[in-house]
Amino acid sequence: MSEIFDETRALFDLPEGIIYLDGNSLGPLPRATAGRVASCVTEEWGKLLITGWNRAGWMEMPRRIGDRIGRLIGAEPGTVVMGDTLSIKVYQALASALELRPGRRVILSDTGNFPSDLYMADGLVRTLGDGYALRTVAPEDVEAAITPDLAVLMVTEVDYRTGRRHDMARLIEKAHGAGALVVWDLAHSAGALPVDLAGAGADFAVGCTYKYLNSGPGGPAFIYVAPRHADKVRPALSGWLGHQAPFAFDLDYRPGDGIERMRVGTPPILQLAALEASLDIWDRIDMHDVRARSVELCEAFIAGVEATCPTLTLGSPRNPDERGSQVSFRHPEGYAIMQALIARGVIGDFRAPDTLRFGFTPLYTTLADVEGAVMALSGIMATDGWDRPEFKARAKVT
Ligand SMILES: *Cc1c(COP(=O)(O)O)cnc(C)c1O
Repeated sequence: MSEIFDETRALFDLPEGIIYLDGNSLGPLPRATAGRVASCVTEEWGKLLITGWNRAGWMEMPRRIGDRIGRLIGAEPGTVVMGDTLSIKVYQALASALELRPGRRVILSDTGNFPSDLYMADGLVRTLGDGYALRTVAPEDVEAAITPDLAVLMVTEVDYRTGRRHDMARLIEKAHGAGALVVWDLAHSAGALPVDLAGAGADFAVGCTYKYLNSGPGGPAFIYVAPRHADKVRPALSGWLGHQAPFAFDLDYRPGDGIERMRVGTPPILQLAALEASLDIWDRIDMHDVRARSVELCEAFIAGVEATCPTLTLGSPRNPDERGSQVSFRHPEGYAIMQALIARGVIGDFRAPDTLRFGFTPLYTTLADVEGAVMALSGIMATDGWDRPEFKARAKVT
């Protein structure tokens, strides 16, 4: 197992002297990406022009790549398609799930969910009017809040701030028992830990590719629809590429077959090409190996920080089974501490109000990186190295 990660680390173009612990927010650049994108630009777009849609297989890319993502999240072949951004896919999945539960009007989510997911749900509820409502509870209260009036449970498996992980199989069983459907956001799961959508009986799932899957800034999102729903859902975002026959240019919308109907508009070919280069690495990876190494890295980081930085408080669950692939520590001066750490070449990020966030990504993160990060952090804490005006000025992106 360790040999495969020695190999994969060499496939990433990481800047010299940097310890990168933020692949949970933006994955780094695979060495093959620039060449793949350049060839898509010059050989495909440049030489084939519009015939690229047929001759370079651009039109099928969202499905073809969807299947490669599907393998990483336990989806059946033909159930995943790429496109748009994650926020859009959340809206789309939620709208379709609600329509499959006529007569029910409540969406349940939790306060640990990523705000954009909650904003999208809120906007959808406002558009629908007519008694539709979004109900949020604390993450630990989700299971108890699944009541028979529920239409859809919408949760993110791994909490972006704390790394706390919901029990997917259990929540699905409980929600289905109450007659509700479930929409999973896999933003911090896809490429982070094994996911078994088919085995767990999932209804809908969505996720992004620029985090653990290294597609680059603004890379396209994905959506999964279970085969039992795929030909029944009515897409709320009924764009022409989800139509049964886009090039018939019918005036009436007829949804395409299965997952095809979740496509909306023209796919981002250059970003899909970048994603393809990254998936050439992922195709060789067993998610159980990733998980074992991720737990090892996270545990070593927690032990190292707790042994040397007594004023930092663990903000993630201590039990690895209850965590994703990230570790959070809390401190009132968290922002300045993170800036000081970045100045020393250790890149994590900060989430308001007080969370220092570190992502562990076995494809390119080693135990030596963990040791280096602990050493830098303990050095800063021991000397109050964060207590300087330049580390306290807030940037736009934290
Ligand atoms: C990263 C993230 C998003 C971001 O959505 P975009 O539309 O891609 O900007 C949404 N939801 C969750 C849970 C996330 O972690």
